[in-house]
Amino acid sequence: MTGEALIVLENVNKWFGPLHVLQDVDLTVERGEVVVVIGPSGSGKSTLCRAINRLEPIDSGSITFDGTPLPAEGRPLARLRSEVGMVFQSFNLFAHKTILQNVMLGPVKVRKEKPAAARERAMALLERVGIASQADKFPAQLSGGQQQRVAIARALAMQPKALLFDEPTSALDPEMVGEVLDVMTSLAKEGMTMVVVTHEMGFARHAAKRVVFMADGQLVEQAPPAEFFANPKSDRAKDFLSKIL
Ligand code: ADP
Ligand code: MG
Repeated sequence: MTGEALIVLENVNKWFGPLHVLQDVDLTVERGEVVVVIGPSGSGKSTLCRAINRLEPIDSGSITFDGTPLPAEGRPLARLRSEVGMVFQSFNLFAHKTILQNVMLGPVKVRKEKPAAARERAMALLERVGIASQADKFPAQLSGGQQQRVAIARALAMQPKALLFDEPTSALDPEMVGEVLDVMTSLAKEGMTMVVVTHEMGFARHAAKRVVFMADGQLVEQAPPAEFFANPKSDRAKDFLSKIL
């Protein structure tokens, strides 16, 4: 941990029509830090992730990534998207491409890597997430947990500076949650900068450096997990924890 800010949100506001979904949000994520975002459904967690990747434009405030304001369009935006990997609840793999092709595609198309080099790196990443033996299969032939591990490998293939996870295990059968969390835990240990929206409190306790609690578009409180779970300060957080723990 260098203590160097990688993602900085200052006074960020976002409306969907009359709905104020992000309200004066301030958040700093340091290089190598793992931040877990929790909160009730509809509190703005997905919007927060999407704003960091500029899948959603914000209405006011500022977001900087690695010292630069988020670009609005063009090549700089494409570069930002490759530097901030995103893993969604629905794995979004290309159904008509093999697992290997799914992982190689971004590096070849966006990063202009040579196919042979991209293939070699993709195989190494599939190895890392424990899927190398499935490289020539199609997504539908894999379990949900395997597909999500491929999605993580695909994000890593872009050599991102940070990874955003939006409820990566919510769509999985319970017996597959662990294998995905294991991959995420090992990335966290290796020093990947991660923002993780999840309901997996075990992951939050063990892998997060900081837990951020959101409710109604506000970042209500943030603290190291041991402190947050033992002693939530706000009534909203106490209420939320009483329902899920
Ligand atoms: P969370 O991920 O915490 O469940 P979201 O960020 O998905 O919350 O949504 C926050 C609020 O914004 C919710 O009330 C949701 O219905 C609303 N919302 C999300 N996306 C849109 C959209 N594209 N248009 C209008 N309202 C939206
Ligand atoms: Mg969401």
